[in-house]
Amino acid sequence: MTDLTPLGQRLASIDEQIADAARAASRDLSSITRIVITKFHPASMVRELHGLGVRDFGESRHQEAQPKVAELSDLDAQWSFVGQLQSKKARQVRAYCQAIHSLDRDSLITALANDEPGTPLDVFVQVNLTDDPARGGVIPSELDAFADRVAAAAGIELRGLMGVAPLDQDPRPAFAALRALSERIGIQHPGARALSMGMSGDFAEAIAEGATHLRIGTAITGKRPDHG
Ligand SMILES: *Cc1c(COP(=O)(O)O)cnc(C)c1O
Repeated sequence: MTDLTPLGQRLASIDEQIADAARAASRDLSSITRIVITKFHPASMVRELHGLGVRDFGESRHQEAQPKVAELSDLDAQWSFVGQLQSKKARQVRAYCQAIHSLDRDSLITALANDEPGTPLDVFVQVNLTDDPARGGVIPSELDAFADRVAAAAGIELRGLMGVAPLDQDPRPAFAALRALSERIGIQHPGARALSMGMSGDFAEAIAEGATHLRIGTAITGKRPDHG
């Protein structure tokens, strides 16, 4: 452990906390994918993380992600897009990501769907867990119908739900609500039981509520580097 870089130490520490939370919840660690969100950080950091064994990465801004992923095309890595997505950019994002966690509008279904042969894109429907309808995500009352439309579209595979806990509140009730929605969606769509929830500050609570995909940024990468 002593010869690890600061980045390696943070990664090891978070992985230990993930393992502890999984054990506390009597969950199998292999059912949890830790995605490292590398937004605001350079390709060189992704390479260092890859050298430490990380294979799952996420980005949230297309303009930043597209050249970064291109520069890293020699790595065996999986990329998830987790941020707000404009429908006119959606096809470009599809070209370099294997999964999109922020599907929340019909215009995105239309933009992402295709009849071409090839591996379907994994998608998560983002659910709005706040009382503010202006935040990203489908509101719970519209989720079932939206999930049906996603599942019916060609070229995209509904894998599950994604949520961001409201700020400055106990995240656990929001994660419990998302879990309940996921159980309901899973009856209609058995292949869609994944739960993308849990970030740097709340991944332990998310694991306790059944998260299968954690999106962890700053706790591993450190703070956003200064510009200039
Ligand atoms: C940036 C981001 C994360 C990671 O956030 P941290 O608090 O840095 O772990 C997770 N999910 C989404 C949608 C993000 O934009």
